Amino acid sequence: MRRNDTTDKLIQTFTRLPKVHKLAIASVTLLVAAALMMPKEHQPVPLVLDPPLVQPAAQDADTSPGEEAPVATAEDAAKAGIALPDIEYQIRPGDTLSDIFNHLGVGQSAMYQVLESDQEILALDTLQPGDTLRFWLGGDSGTELEKLELRFNLAHQVIFSRVDDSHFEFQKVDIPGTWQSEPLSGEINGSFYVSAQKAGLSDAEIARIAALFKDKLNFARDLRAGDRFQVVRQSQFVDGQATGDTELDAIRIFNRDKVLTAYLFSDGSYYDKDGDSLARAFLRFPTARHYRISSPFDPHRHHPVTGRYAPHNGTDFACPSGTAVLATADGVVTRVTNHPYAGKYIVIQHGGKYLSRYLHLSKSLVHKGQIVSRGQKIALSGATGRVTGPHLHYELHINGHPVNPMTAKIPMAASVDSKDRPAFMAEVKKLEAQMDNAS
Ligand SMILES: [Zn+2]
Repeated sequence: MRRNDTTDKLIQTFTRLPKVHKLAIASVTLLVAAALMMPKEHQPVPLVLDPPLVQPAAQDADTSPGEEAPVATAEDAAKAGIALPDIEYQIRPGDTLSDIFNHLGVGQSAMYQVLESDQEILALDTLQPGDTLRFWLGGDSGTELEKLELRFNLAHQVIFSRVDDSHFEFQKVDIPGTWQSEPLSGEINGSFYVSAQKAGLSDAEIARIAALFKDKLNFARDLRAGDRFQVVRQSQFVDGQATGDTELDAIRIFNRDKVLTAYLFSDGSYYDKDGDSLARAFLRFPTARHYRISSPFDPHRHHPVTGRYAPHNGTDFACPSGTAVLATADGVVTRVTNHPYAGKYIVIQHGGKYLSRYLHLSKSLVHKGQIVSRGQKIALSGATGRVTGPHLHYELHINGHPVNPMTAKIPMAASVDSKDRPAFMAEVKKLEAQMDNAS
């Protein structure tokens, strides 16, 4: 239930082949999300535009002590060999990427070059108010974009760096940090939502709990005043500061005479105390028929012409436009949007660990926030965005990283494997004790 991946940093680099492109008026709107699924604890902060927050070659690090130091002083950065950004901008509700680039005097062509590099990770589309953009400028004019960093929080950043006149490559930086565990508990008094909030759970965590038990409990009808619930939550810290990333390791709901349980096992799935899965399985293919794979998942792909590193983060199926696209597992639609290169695409979150993406669609049949079930028709395939022909690009992400959807280990089993049972039972016992002691 700890994060197993102790990799220091995951670095993914990506560039793309040049291609003169009709940059259709793409309105890249930076969502003003009610953000049920992806909580951000940030408080929107007024934007800092001019003068730039930090001068590139800052002389004295005489930041006034009363102000919140952004990240590090120029001196710290210089020592570490890191240049501080020329501009730091915190996204506000209603901002669009295009407006931000215009306002900061960073050209639209640079924006499209960044967008082109972004098409394999689509990080820009996940920006939310409160996230920070950091710009490094250079070139002859001193206004050319050299580097753009998206800071989602202390632990998650994506960095776009210029490689030549017309291309950027990206790096995804994930800092594992440390995880601290704490028990929370509460009693139902009013709605589950209000009671859980009072116990200290976030909207996203409450939604996660509701989704986990949705087949077993009607939260509006079944819960009674006086019913109790307990949770063991892990929170991530980087340099002693909470990043806002959390994980629920255990949940117990005492509903009249029955007890509902959910324990997160090391395989990333939730099981009840007897080891039976709470989640339903995945489909391997996002279409009813199995179409030919026109381009396989390939994290190490090099472009045949440029030789550049250009990972292909999904599987392309050669299906004709208008083919029914199916949700591969139960989940919540977190995004339905248009991208100049990825085309019309849909993102579905399946619990905390899994995410799927469907690109180049001609038509979406779902809306953001909609709960979908495995096998549900969510869209029609197409050829939108930058494509050479109609196909469906399907991605599966596990813990934030793209995996090969055709071979990835995805939950198919209905219960904890017998060989893993002793380990699971030991973990359940430990978490039960943590909850017992807290109540
Ligand atoms: Zn593809």
